[in-house]
Amino acid sequence: MHLLIRPAVLLALCLLLIACGKQAEPFHQERIYAFGTLIDVSLWGVDEAKAQAAFTSLGEDFDYMHEEWHAWRPGALAEVNRKLEAGENFTISESMLPLIELSARLSQASQELFNPAIGRLIALWGFHADEPEAGLPDPEQLAKLVAAAPSMGDIHIDGSKLRCDNPKVKLDFGGFAKGFGVDRAMEQLQAMGIGNAIINAGGDLRAIGQRGERAWRVGIRHPRADGVFASLEVSSDESVFTSGDYERFFEHKGKAYHHIIDPRTGYPAEGTASVTVIHDDATTADAAATALLVAGPKRWPEIAGSLGTDRVLVISTGGEVQATPAMARRIRFEVTPEPEVAIRKIHLQ
Ligand code: AMP
Ligand code: MG
Repeated sequence: MHLLIRPAVLLALCLLLIACGKQAEPFHQERIYAFGTLIDVSLWGVDEAKAQAAFTSLGEDFDYMHEEWHAWRPGALAEVNRKLEAGENFTISESMLPLIELSARLSQASQELFNPAIGRLIALWGFHADEPEAGLPDPEQLAKLVAAAPSMGDIHIDGSKLRCDNPKVKLDFGGFAKGFGVDRAMEQLQAMGIGNAIINAGGDLRAIGQRGERAWRVGIRHPRADGVFASLEVSSDESVFTSGDYERFFEHKGKAYHHIIDPRTGYPAEGTASVTVIHDDATTADAAATALLVAGPKRWPEIAGSLGTDRVLVISTGGEVQATPAMARRIRFEVTPEPEVAIRKIHLQ
């Protein structure tokens, strides 16, 4: 068995940020490595000194977030996981509390298809390691973990105290930490008075303002080929996040096993190759993309409704394209022939 991980560089390239508009105003760009990917920060209309100050500040922030929120390396989250497992009643740090609270809310809204409490399942599959060498998980162990049903609902917060009823809960924020980090970084830029920027973390991004007089145009990667499947314009303040079965996977006896696990079965989610979500904040877009990939090509509109996300593009493993009406209006296909799109209405809750 060997693991195939698409290099973050490739992903960043494939999900192209297609620049358009006039280049009259100053434009600055910096590349930062965090969350296992290269993050491109682009600033429009700020002077050199301010741009450099922003890049330095974001570089430090991303380093901190990456270290602190990593479930599998020593850091704040690893420490929280150790205490959760031991069943301790402990004080949670101020930096960790919002992650736990927000992810619990998103988990509940997704009917627990986005479930950051399934860290043990992720580990059993070997997806916690940079380059895992594990084979298929032991089915008995897997069944036990699924039966134990680790859930964010097992975690009880009282002020700054935290307690967990289920020793099988292990937090893995891999499904939404990037979005959460991008939101915090964008807040930082806005606090510095920067109004036109894009933070692009390997194709997952948040954009504010505009690039000159034009919107930002971004690409959505083709899930089964190199290159761009579709593109869309983003402006004012929007985030675009994609989850795909091609991002991290291994092959075993001719079958591919990817990194997004259906908490109900314990196995990689089936039926969907990629999901792209546009939302006002990056945190929700990130969690929703993961949840909707788990939900599958039939059920995703219901979960999109409960998550409050109305701009969604789904490409099934068979290549069928579905979109909400609001997404269908926005995208331009970059493949020929242009695919048929099945429009799926959702009912926002
Ligand atoms: P993303 O690329 O945002 O879809 O995140 C994928 C990562 O989220 C995986 O590598 C796991 O660390 C984690 N993950 C996998 N399955 C789930 C799930 N059902 N709910 C929450 N996080 C998950
Ligand atoms: Mg996600």
